[in-house]
Amino acid sequence: MFKVMKRSKYNFTTHDNEGNLILYNFLTGLPSLTKVMKPDVDKFTELFLTDSEIHDTSCEGHAEAVERLLKSGILVANDTNESVLHDAKYYEEVYDSKLTLVILPTGQCNFSCPYCFEAEKPFFRSAMTVDAQNAILKFVQKQIHKHKALEVSWFGGEPLLEPQIIKHLSENFIKICNARFLPYSAEMTTNGFFLDSDMFDMLYKLKVYRYMITVDGFKEQHDKLKFTRNGMGTYDVIMDNLLRIRDSKQYKFANITIRVNMTRSFLDILDDFVCFIDSSFSNDPRFSFLFVTVDNYSKVECSGDDMFADSSELMSRLLDNELYANKFYPEESKIYPLDIEQGCIARLKNSYTVTPDLNVYKCYVHYDMGVNNIGCINLKGDLLLDETIHRRWYLTTKFVQKKMAEVCDDCFYFPACNGGDKVCPVRCLNPTPDLASCPLKNGGHIKLLTETVLYAVNKYPCSTLVL
Ligand code: SF4
Ligand code: SF4
Repeated sequence: MFKVMKRSKYNFTTHDNEGNLILYNFLTGLPSLTKVMKPDVDKFTELFLTDSEIHDTSCEGHAEAVERLLKSGILVANDTNESVLHDAKYYEEVYDSKLTLVILPTGQCNFSCPYCFEAEKPFFRSAMTVDAQNAILKFVQKQIHKHKALEVSWFGGEPLLEPQIIKHLSENFIKICNARFLPYSAEMTTNGFFLDSDMFDMLYKLKVYRYMITVDGFKEQHDKLKFTRNGMGTYDVIMDNLLRIRDSKQYKFANITIRVNMTRSFLDILDDFVCFIDSSFSNDPRFSFLFVTVDNYSKVECSGDDMFADSSELMSRLLDNELYANKFYPEESKIYPLDIEQGCIARLKNSYTVTPDLNVYKCYVHYDMGVNNIGCINLKGDLLLDETIHRRWYLTTKFVQKKMAEVCDDCFYFPACNGGDKVCPVRCLNPTPDLASCPLKNGGHIKLLTETVLYAVNKYPCSTLVL
């Protein structure tokens, strides 16, 4: 116990249906969940929630409770600068020494999806040359001694248009990591069209275990959104590939997320589609589903009418579906608003997106944003970065651009949001800070946080405080 203490500025409090007080601290996360039983709430309020300073003399007889509140971060010593504690934690994450590479073997794609962020844009249309591949290998060889692991994410365009590039690079990445006893892991975002048995088997041997593959509804809906460059529907080929993987039990480390982009008209088939995925994939833990609303990244007219829909409306319709809510709604999504660990990889210092021409970016979506191109890899494998631009991504705007609003500094939600920087650094790199997108400006967010804390208190270990 300290002589003088104060409440953490990152505390969030609410009550459950029985009138118990629930406390959650956004800096320390789930271990901070604390319940004060209804008969003790008035005493707790008098002791800890009334004055701004809490003196040890006023807590006599409650030493155990005080120790638990200090341990959970709900109380801190009065002279603690919590912003410094937050920053230390944030930078530990940002300076994580794992090397993360998002690699585009090509910018070409065999599909012509109207909503794609690469649609109509002349990005990196040629495949990575052998010289460029060897430059990446030299770069990894030179840098790997600084890192504790290598994680590769194959991206495009459609990466499986160039399987030989993936094979050449993966075999050598694995050799480089094995020579140093370092963990290697790989994932791929693919449209799934070329993922036949031979291709999947080859990739599995190359340790590509995690996949993100999009299926936009049944054949009728999917083929209107995901068609080849010559207009051919793709549902049958992709679904055959997925079902074949499902029936190949030897790929036990495979982890396939099927992403479903929901348009407004998806509402008409939502219930039937959830029944379909339940009957086809629900007994296979290697498959999971991510439902998202379609974003108009390409800013082109997409089939006119009903493509873009309000995400909260679609999500609430989805959660009304009991089968989805009980069987498919992922646990991470249920507690996502409380999550202090997750965030975009573009904010990590050692995360780079490498395009076929060896340019190096941070974000793998906004290639036309000047500040995104932080440098390149030369043919000798040297990483040539403009560190002043790079810093804008991995140091918060608070230190680099002094744009962080004062209101963020004292906001209880700051560790989960970081002024928007954690969710998407691009939001803070705009010439004017995008505070209009503050989640708390949406009245529904506090309700969401309250519901999530109440869900977590029943699901996760929670300390019950007795006074
Ligand atoms: S953007 Fe809003 S929610 Fe996020 S830290 Fe700032 S004030 Fe808090
Ligand atoms: S910086 Fe933003 S837009 Fe870019 S990859 Fe991250 S979350 Fe997506």
